[in-house]
Amino acid sequence: MKLLRSHLGGAWVEGGPGRAKLVNPATEEPLAEVATGGWELAAALGFARTTGGPALRALTFAQRGELIKALADLYQAHREELLDLAVANGGNTRGDAKFDVDGAIFTLSTYAELGKSIGARTVLADGEGIQLGRSPRFHGQHLLVPRQGVAIHINAFNFPAWGTAEKAATALLAGMPVLSKPATSSALVAARMVELAVEKQVLPAGAFSLLVGGVGDLLDHVGPQDVVAFTGSSDTAQKIRVLPSMVHNSVRLNVEADSLNAAVLGPDLDPDSETYGLYVKDVVRDMTQKAGQKCTAIRRLLVPADKADRLRDDLIERLQAVTVGNPAHDGVRMGPLATAAQRDSVREGIDLLARDGRLVFGSFEVKAVGAPDGKGFFVGPTLIEVEPGADAPSVHGHEVFGPAATVVPYSGRAAEAAALVARGGGGLVSSVYSEDVAWVGEAVMGLAPYHGRVFLGSAKIAEASPGPGTVLPQLVHGGPGRAGGGEELGGPRGLEFYMQRVALEGSRPVIERIAGLTTTS
Ligand code: NAP
Repeated sequence: MKLLRSHLGGAWVEGGPGRAKLVNPATEEPLAEVATGGWELAAALGFARTTGGPALRALTFAQRGELIKALADLYQAHREELLDLAVANGGNTRGDAKFDVDGAIFTLSTYAELGKSIGARTVLADGEGIQLGRSPRFHGQHLLVPRQGVAIHINAFNFPAWGTAEKAATALLAGMPVLSKPATSSALVAARMVELAVEKQVLPAGAFSLLVGGVGDLLDHVGPQDVVAFTGSSDTAQKIRVLPSMVHNSVRLNVEADSLNAAVLGPDLDPDSETYGLYVKDVVRDMTQKAGQKCTAIRRLLVPADKADRLRDDLIERLQAVTVGNPAHDGVRMGPLATAAQRDSVREGIDLLARDGRLVFGSFEVKAVGAPDGKGFFVGPTLIEVEPGADAPSVHGHEVFGPAATVVPYSGRAAEAAALVARGGGGLVSSVYSEDVAWVGEAVMGLAPYHGRVFLGSAKIAEASPGPGTVLPQLVHGGPGRAGGGEELGGPRGLEFYMQRVALEGSRPVIERIAGLTTTS
């Protein structure tokens, strides 16, 4: 069987004798093996710091942008191969796989363009210069310079292509070498992406390392110039936050974790309106795309109590039409969950949510089209409903990372909706669907402190919008509290995590020359 290797210290390494298997989650057929340890991770970080870092920092933003563009072009050229791997190893339908792979290419292209627009510079001026004394000669200026460590990227299983690319794009453009560690269960896509980049020598040696199979003792070797960007569960994030090496070296950490994203239907919407139709469409997409394994997927459906029955019935009608099965088969609209452990955790979570109210659609007996009998990690689309005013602690406190959502009736008041959503403890994205501008304004102000992004659903943007579940590289992705407290992307904002902000204080002409604001002394 194929053994996936790691790319560390500028070479392909197999690791130790311990092995884990990667499988097709629709058929449970083994696809590849990975080592579970035996790497020289301190040396790998050292190589990236001393070889990859200086090579990237010697380039301007425009030149780094060209490298990122070359990566985007490479993945575009190998798109079909990456899509096939995502279908086999990720349980993705072809549409799910495109969402991941095309999202990766688009994000790389966006950061390539950003590099081009920043141009022939190696540092960024942060804001305007400041006169510090009576004379304009005594001057201050904030600068952003690349950090001299390694950007360690630890990713979740659900977006192997996009997760790898969105983090790599920002770090590489900022001038930091990357060590990417995909989740083991779905590592085939990310591993192939790094393999392609190495084969084609798109990046300087040491700029893009890969660790597959487990994190090992990697984080014991982080230093004060390194940064760690983590996407995954809150439980794992908590372990990373308290590692002595992280605490002792004040290592910069970005966490993208769980989220109980909500979609609030405004009281003004008639069920025959276009905006109501958009709400239903966005909810069904989020429940079924990638089998609900999206950190941004809508989990809580806040609906005015007098429309709750109608919404439930409309959703059930749509969900009944979703064919679940092996995504390699034509006509299958929703694939399996990524692993047996995820399936078990989703089933337990659904039981928990149903205790807050009642299950109105779905069962654990899934007839999976095109999957061998008894095989595959399937859970069908599942809808739960709670009574108006129910406390529903699990609905507002437990993320089910699968194709499940809960109808939560409310009064129609914006302040009540915002207070219910806030019980999620901080999220990545929530949305409001309404044409009543005053109501939307009040709801947005109530939701904003608890979210990294708020989506304003309306017929006016229906045609152009991919819905709240799609992360766009131009806007920040992250959120407070339960969501991890992190922030990624957001165009140039994403670069700041990988750069040191330094305040220069001195003579204006000297500072302006260093900052690249002028070329005269
Ligand atoms: P996970 O179990 O926390 O794993 C995430 C990553 O951490 C994997 O690469 C995993 O490696 C690694 N890991 C495991 N133990 C570790 C440790 N002790 N130290 C350092 N790294 C460790 O999460 P998951 O099951 O893959 O992902 C599902 C969760 O991610 C959901 O809760 C979801 O909400 C969240 N998520 C959030 C976002 C976001 O952007 N906010 C996006 C996607 C998913 P192995 O695979 O080798 O164990």
